[in-house]
Amino acid sequence: MDDEQVRQWLLTEGLDIVDIDLALKLKDAIVRCDTIAFPDDAINIVFTLQHHAQSRETWAGYITTGDKYLITVPQIDILLRNKTRQLLYPPAMRCPSTDVVTEADLALVLLGVGVHEVRHRIQHKKPWVARFARPYDVSDRDVRALTQHMVTLCRDNRHFQRQAGMRRRELRSAFGPLEVDARVVELLFLRQRSDSDEAIERALFAQP
Ligand SMILES: [Zn+2]
Repeated sequence: MDDEQVRQWLLTEGLDIVDIDLALKLKDAIVRCDTIAFPDDAINIVFTLQHHAQSRETWAGYITTGDKYLITVPQIDILLRNKTRQLLYPPAMRCPSTDVVTEADLALVLLGVGVHEVRHRIQHKKPWVARFARPYDVSDRDVRALTQHMVTLCRDNRHFQRQAGMRRRELRSAFGPLEVDARVVELLFLRQRSDSDEAIERALFAQP
């Protein structure tokens, strides 16, 4: 299906046009990152119409079964604008409205999500690329602190979601070592503040 067919299909499913357009932009970002990492490997992106039962925040994912990316369309616009505010704007600059998010910043965060998901595919298909999982393995001091931060964040999330009833296997895939690695790489990409192919490739294949 081309973009226009996807747009028409999602409209008939009752989805909001702003969410549909953002989902298509995210698809383009994932395709761009994936093509840099896997120039010869076909890419499969699936749009989903419902949030995962136990996470209302998942808007993208890489699934090893079937080697595909998922994009969850409902509310993706507001979720990604909020993510942009949290990641790129210091708290003092924030305003209750999400309108302050510039399109350039949003586009950078979309590429960051692309880098994150494609890193999951790299973990699966190029396992020799070393991962950011243990802070003491990381040579650079700043990146070591970033890795430690992500380890702590994922551990806290795991604890919180276990209390909320998430199952052990799901906890491991949602907040385990692979997720720590993908989050570190996503932030390494955003820190460069560049949307060039070189910046994407540097982050996709970053190693401790
Ligand atoms: Zn992830």
